[in-house]
Amino acid sequence: MRRQRKTKILATLGPSSSSAEMVGKLHSRGVDLFRLNFSHGDHVDHKARYDIIRELEVKQGRPIGILADLQGPKIRIGTFKGGKICLEEGQILTLDLNESDGNDKRVALPHPKVMESLEEGTELLLDDGKLKLRVLEASSATAKCQVLVGGTLSDRKGVNIPNAIVKMSALTDKDRRDLDFALELGVDWIALSFVQRPEDVAEIKKIVAGRAGVMAKIEKPAAVEQLEGIIELADAIMVARGDLGVEIPLQKVPSIQKNIINFAREAGKPVVVATQMLESMITSPVPTRAEVTDVANAIYDGADCVMLSAESAAGDYPLEAVATMSDIAEETEKDVTYQKRMDNQHGILEATTADAISAAASQVARTINATSIVTYTTSGSTALRAARERGTTPIVALTPSLSTARRLALVWGLHCVHTKDAENFADMVEKACNTCFQEGFAKPGERIVIMAGVPFGTPGSTNILRIAWVGEKTLSAV
Ligand code: PGA
Ligand code: MN
Repeated sequence: MRRQRKTKILATLGPSSSSAEMVGKLHSRGVDLFRLNFSHGDHVDHKARYDIIRELEVKQGRPIGILADLQGPKIRIGTFKGGKICLEEGQILTLDLNESDGNDKRVALPHPKVMESLEEGTELLLDDGKLKLRVLEASSATAKCQVLVGGTLSDRKGVNIPNAIVKMSALTDKDRRDLDFALELGVDWIALSFVQRPEDVAEIKKIVAGRAGVMAKIEKPAAVEQLEGIIELADAIMVARGDLGVEIPLQKVPSIQKNIINFAREAGKPVVVATQMLESMITSPVPTRAEVTDVANAIYDGADCVMLSAESAAGDYPLEAVATMSDIAEETEKDVTYQKRMDNQHGILEATTADAISAAASQVARTINATSIVTYTTSGSTALRAARERGTTPIVALTPSLSTARRLALVWGLHCVHTKDAENFADMVEKACNTCFQEGFAKPGERIVIMAGVPFGTPGSTNILRIAWVGEKTLSAV
């Protein structure tokens, strides 16, 4: 199955999208990776979804990426008797550490460290900033608050306190349990929420120990300040606009989004743009014009991947949302100014053979009108450098490692195929030609450009650029 676009689609699974049938449809409509959101659902739910995706992968014969998104030190209120309350402006709501069901007078804020950091005048934003409270009086166990902006508040809604320094660790006990569970399942990516410092990324990378890629979600002002250090350590980045837009003034989100994408692309790290991309499609089969433009703009910026959250997890139109995203990506990438932008933003090459060969391959392919670039990759690092080129020619990444193939599903422009490593030069050419033909990337008589490394199977040895002609003879040997 060949996609007609280079930008990838990551879709969150949830109550609207957890049957095998639905997951299959979402994939065929365009989802390249699925997100298991550990802020919701239990391990049984996530395992069921994981198994469905892996079964689908076998059925489709295509590697599919799975991302486990850890909740991180997200602050949430407790629950209410009846599930929700309605708060009026001016009324008093007391927050405490008592985990029993709340009412319209009090509710739990079950985080002692957070409670300690509250003082008179601290403002709390609830439910993605929709409601606002101000602390009137605080002790280490309670905080009496006045409602500044009211509305409906339901169980376990998120709390943001942009101006308080909360000394919580990057991984909560729940995150550690979820992380062990997700790694045990065999997910390809782990996303860490509310990263504040490069050290947070280092901490989780140490635990993950290469078993999955680590994606740092940028959603805190502190992370924006230390972006370069975080990008350097992380394997991928997410522009997590939901919490980011609560933690910092909303009007700063667009420029921060563009900066994150630029830094990540320069570093050759995949970058995902997330949250509210097609928000209105939670309840409507058609998006707003502004949403369509937002998705297109992320694509014009050269993001590797765009994400669906509630649209696919809990909305009424998950399939339409995926189809819409896919259509926007295809159309945007066809625009001549899209390729011009990619060319203008070309990153500085590093003095490595992988960069030299990647840049040359892209140039050669364009000059001779080759239909695809084939890259042999073991760890995935060569394929990442090839994708960093943001060239016009589609890239087929051949890898003997299934986990590399799955992980690279996130990366712009890569069509990954899990296959045996080349044994010798002739085999390298034959495998590349056959795969391109079988996967719909080249017809007999067309040319492809191959990047590989000799000795074969040695990571980091990319040193060959070969132009090959897809011939009838090669194909008959399949
Ligand atoms: P979340 O992350 O959906 O896990 O909160 C994304 C975001 O904050 O945008
Ligand atoms: Mn978030």
